[in-house]
Amino acid sequence: MTRFPRHLVRADLQAFDGYSSARTSFAGPPARIWLNANEAAEPNRADPGGSVRRYPPPQPEPLRRSFADYLGARQSQVLLARGSDEAIDGLVRTLCPPGSDAGIVVCPPTFGMYAVSAAVHGVPVHEVPQVDAGHRFRHDLGAVADTVRRTGARVVFLDSPGNPTGSTVDPGQLDTLLGDLAEHSVVVLDEAYAEFDVAGRSWVPDLARHPHLAVLRTMSKAHGLAGARVGALVADPELVQVVGRVQAPYPLPAPAVEMALSALAPEAIQHTHARVAATARRRERLAAVLAGHPGVATVYDSAANFVLVRSGEADSMLSRLREAAIAVRDMRHLPGLSDALRVSVGTEEEIDAVVRALRDDRAPATALREERAP
Ligand code: PMP
Repeated sequence: MTRFPRHLVRADLQAFDGYSSARTSFAGPPARIWLNANEAAEPNRADPGGSVRRYPPPQPEPLRRSFADYLGARQSQVLLARGSDEAIDGLVRTLCPPGSDAGIVVCPPTFGMYAVSAAVHGVPVHEVPQVDAGHRFRHDLGAVADTVRRTGARVVFLDSPGNPTGSTVDPGQLDTLLGDLAEHSVVVLDEAYAEFDVAGRSWVPDLARHPHLAVLRTMSKAHGLAGARVGALVADPELVQVVGRVQAPYPLPAPAVEMALSALAPEAIQHTHARVAATARRRERLAAVLAGHPGVATVYDSAANFVLVRSGEADSMLSRLREAAIAVRDMRHLPGLSDALRVSVGTEEEIDAVVRALRDDRAPATALREERAP
């Protein structure tokens, strides 16, 4: 059985115990009277039942178990986090020595937080741009492997389906990359949008085969709990433990844990599946609506809950949408996306509103043409 390549963890953190909280350091049978955490003796009036008077468990076992069951993982492979954002930061801090040359590899266009975490931590970000293949983006994973070997990067971040592209990583190529980098780097596959990729599959079952693979999951997208801030690192138990020791003591607020737990009950998951299927159908409608707009040059295939488009008329589209009080994401600041907008899949009514706003957009030009017509 292959083992997690421990040498990829920062040398100074290998024997690091982390913070010993009141919750984690109390041993023996449960106490009757808890006076070890400097909590208030009486509840706040805003919390008459006292449901949040005490610090929460650092890794609440029922949620960890439910999340593991949902993903087909073992509980020891799951580290709950304050959104996958916190897991990203934890991986960078655990694996990359701060201020060193051992940084991360990203494949733009991609989720911006990988580079932000690396920058805050003081390690370099090596970019291996994706290739625009017309209606989808493709990763150059051969170049990723070369870059890791050349730079000594400790972490590779890939998102699949990717934000903002909506494209997925080729499974065969990812398998090859994992084989190439077994001793060199942790390969993080961010599956934030995995539920929307109805034709795809998760890489959680592959963790046993590839101990240097780490998967990120979140309750923020398909489960509809972005405001609860619940995500997870799913990885080899050894990596889970060491990132857990780097994590702040009580990452998950008790009300968020309760809500996430309810959202992972079987009936709630069934409901989520139905919402995801409906979102995928509306995604196709939104893509068709955008493709039908005369100013739109490209609509990328998407396996996520958003669509990326290119338009030479992005300015006028944005201002029409803004006039209709519709916010979409302007991606034009990103290299290679100087004409791109990202639109999340809304409700049918919200897509109707986009249709109306963009129809208005063409009206003056059409009117102009008609005036000029003989
Ligand atoms: N990964 C990707 C690819 C994302 O797009 C996002 C959010 N936009 C995140 C992670 C962060 O998710 P969370 O809400 O779990 O922190």
